[in-house]
Amino acid sequence: MINKVNIGGIEVIAYPSIDELISSSILTTNNVLPGVGVAINPEKIMAANNDPKVMSILQKATLRYPDGIGVSYVMQKRLGTKVARIPGCELWEQLMLRSVEQQIPVFLLGATKNTVTQTSNKLKALDVNVIGCRDGYFTDEQQATVINEIVNSGAKIVSVALGSPRQELFIFECIKRAPHTFFMGVGGTYDVYTNNVKRAPYFFRVLNLEWLFRLLSQPSRLFRQGNLLKYIYYYLTNKI
Ligand code: UDP
Repeated sequence: MINKVNIGGIEVIAYPSIDELISSSILTTNNVLPGVGVAINPEKIMAANNDPKVMSILQKATLRYPDGIGVSYVMQKRLGTKVARIPGCELWEQLMLRSVEQQIPVFLLGATKNTVTQTSNKLKALDVNVIGCRDGYFTDEQQATVINEIVNSGAKIVSVALGSPRQELFIFECIKRAPHTFFMGVGGTYDVYTNNVKRAPYFFRVLNLEWLFRLLSQPSRLFRQGNLLKYIYYYLTNKI
């Protein structure tokens, strides 16, 4: 049975593991289930509660999973059972590996040209069927061309790294033209995968302190993380 928890107006799905998420919601034995995967974290929940446009984007996604301790903790408390934390970068990496067997065509969009090319090469070396890639630095005028490129490639899985909410806005435009495709917003995943940006060291990860590591290595995130404090306050006062 799949449990859902409503946090601040957004229904998040509780999966027992990343593997089960992929098997139940993305890859069947011989096909890809179309849809849009979005990682839900406290920052996005607060942004959605401040901006109806963000709220509608998140509600339109078909697969909302708890990325980060802030969301999985609240779900756990409400459900009274363990809820797996699904870091978007780990979900993406496992999905890429699982796509090898069926040779599912994959398109990578986003990050710098150098990073996305390195990502593509690293995946191809693992036999992932990457049929196209493109950097994420294009203008609004160029967007239609980028969408054409993706549609014409015949990709069945498209991962999009443009940062939020731009990547989600892009995905909902693109899926209109590619309704049989699975799209996933992946933020800074390619940067981490190619070691151009370091993921939090093991110590921070096991203690669920990735947010602290990011804050220490990029103090400019303090403003964004103000939302995290608001989220905790809203949770403690039952406002979400
Ligand atoms: N990015 C892009 N085009 C842009 C702005 C950002 O491709 O116009 C990429 C950027 O290179 C990075 C990713 O989007 O690889 C988003 O990174 P960030 O850490 O901001 O994402 P988050 O996960 O925090 O939303």
